[in-house]
Amino acid sequence: MSVPTRVTASGHLTSLRAGRLEHTPPASAGLFEERYGLPSHTLTDEDHGGDFGRGKGYMGQNAMATFRPLLALWDVDHTLIENSGISKDTYAQAFERLTGRSVDHEIHTEGRTDPEIMLNMLTAHGIEPTTEHVARIPEALESSMSANASRLRERGYALPGAHTTLEALRDAPGVIQAPLTGNIRPNAFTKLSVFGLHAYLDFEVGAYGSDDHVRANLVGIARRRAATKYNATFDTRSTILLGDTWRDVRAGRDGGAFVVAVASGSDSIDRLQAEGADIVLPDLRDAQSVVEAVTSVRHRPELGGCPIDSIAAIR
Ligand SMILES: [Mg+2]
Repeated sequence: MSVPTRVTASGHLTSLRAGRLEHTPPASAGLFEERYGLPSHTLTDEDHGGDFGRGKGYMGQNAMATFRPLLALWDVDHTLIENSGISKDTYAQAFERLTGRSVDHEIHTEGRTDPEIMLNMLTAHGIEPTTEHVARIPEALESSMSANASRLRERGYALPGAHTTLEALRDAPGVIQAPLTGNIRPNAFTKLSVFGLHAYLDFEVGAYGSDDHVRANLVGIARRRAATKYNATFDTRSTILLGDTWRDVRAGRDGGAFVVAVASGSDSIDRLQAEGADIVLPDLRDAQSVVEAVTSVRHRPELGGCPIDSIAAIR
């Protein structure tokens, strides 16, 4: 079995944080600067107390580094939270609302989008999905989830490290965090808010199962929303998808994102690696490793950044 990737560029991170503390956004700064403190900003060696890149071979003495904003897109279930079966209860109840029938087939989730899950359930029960079914699915799911919110709070939990990781990324310079999930938007909000995780994420620029039933298409949707809101460009070098299933990994690769997988769900490190995750971490317990994995896109040569030999990526 492979050893999970450990990213060890801690000295670099410290330097970036030093730069953030010293930087004062200009008066003309736009929304990104106002909200996140650092724009698509040019940092000089002086900004980092003189040690950024000096003598390390990847920046060159007195070199300037362009500091791109990053879009970190989070899966929800088994990546940030454990729903302890409440999701499947919600699908079952939504199915009953839609059809008047109870569920007597296994419900398959594992990284699928809400519309996919519900349409598969209809088909498994011998029901040909109609346009009326499709139109009513979001309301049925939202009502069911809303009815289950207190049970989710009691039985579910934020996964270890989720709070500290989201907080660390919020404090990292230039990182926008948003959901990218198969859940419909209101249910993503409910699932995260009952554990107090919602405040770290920008739901306006997220992408959801209610936007498209094909998960890979959600990457472009989130990217376009973020570009519009923050007046910045997000591409393969600045979009990071974090998720726990091979479907997250595939969606990230097909959608053009750098993929940081976490093996906190049903898929093993080997499985996530085999699907092509750029970095695989066992879970979110080491927030610093997640921050460094996300921000490593700025320094990966194959993505057009600067090489940094202290980052060990799997691929
Ligand atoms: Mg998941």
